[in-house]
Amino acid sequence: MERRALLKKMALIGLGSALPLHSLFAGKPFAGAERPYHRFQLGDLELTVVTDGHIVMSPVQEHFAMDAPQEEVNQLLENNFRSTKAVDLGMNILIVKKGKDIILIDTGAGYGFGPACGWLPASLKDAGIHVNDVTQIVITHAHPDHIGGLLSQDNKLVFPNAQVYISAIEHQFWMSADKSDFSKSRFSNKELLAKILVSTKNTLTVLKDRLHLFDHKEALFGCIRLQLAAGHTPGHTLVRIFSGKEEIVHIADLLHSDVLLFPHPEWGFDGDTDLSMAAATRRKVMEALALDRTAVFSYHLPWPGIGHIRKKADAYEWIAETYAFPA
Ligand SMILES: [Zn+2]
Repeated sequence: MERRALLKKMALIGLGSALPLHSLFAGKPFAGAERPYHRFQLGDLELTVVTDGHIVMSPVQEHFAMDAPQEEVNQLLENNFRSTKAVDLGMNILIVKKGKDIILIDTGAGYGFGPACGWLPASLKDAGIHVNDVTQIVITHAHPDHIGGLLSQDNKLVFPNAQVYISAIEHQFWMSADKSDFSKSRFSNKELLAKILVSTKNTLTVLKDRLHLFDHKEALFGCIRLQLAAGHTPGHTLVRIFSGKEEIVHIADLLHSDVLLFPHPEWGFDGDTDLSMAAATRRKVMEALALDRTAVFSYHLPWPGIGHIRKKADAYEWIAETYAFPA
């Protein structure tokens, strides 16, 4: 069935706020017994990475490098031994433990993306963390693959004891969503966008008693600084986690492909609310992170999403962290 017809049919059969995204981004469900996690120390903090699953984006140039020559895109993918048919996005979730605080950065896709996503509660359990243990949640931006895990299908809180922190700019953008400006985005599926707007507004409304709106100047919990990196969304936020002199920067959705967007930050991603602003921000942030040699954590790059950004010619490359043994 054609995508448009499928979405229409799903709307008609009354899926309400459920996002029928699984029809668009079908990946494989997890087949193992326990989901692996990655745990490491940053100064006094214990950091854990768990997986929420993955999203398969296909065809490539419907989502990435929309205006770039197809031969050039395919060549780059082939040179890096990647499929030319799809980009497989990881969904890496970072948890910061500081004393009694268990701080989650974003919440994954929840129930709306089908069986290849929404694994966060099970992944946390495998890492020894119960959903009731989470005390704070920092949201980098309000896209459905980041806030989808906040509510269950019956609109109940998945993390009942957590306070939720989100940028005031981001909150205002989505709460006035019917007036929000998507004219600078290349996201072509207007029906899906309309559903996302309804669902996001619902989530933020249900959560309103525990929402804290930040302005990027304040530090949170004595271990997090916030940095506005607008473009992907107006309030898109980088989360800089620190302990003493050590730091790792959660770059959220600054970019969604290691192979395509480090060498060509300007090629862009269809999920960017403002394509050209996102490209300019991507380049500016990568330049600074490359210069400072800062450790980086990425939500969507291949598991576990940890590495460094290195300057290469007039662009960049991703140097993924390697590990001598699984931990
Ligand atoms: Zn995302």
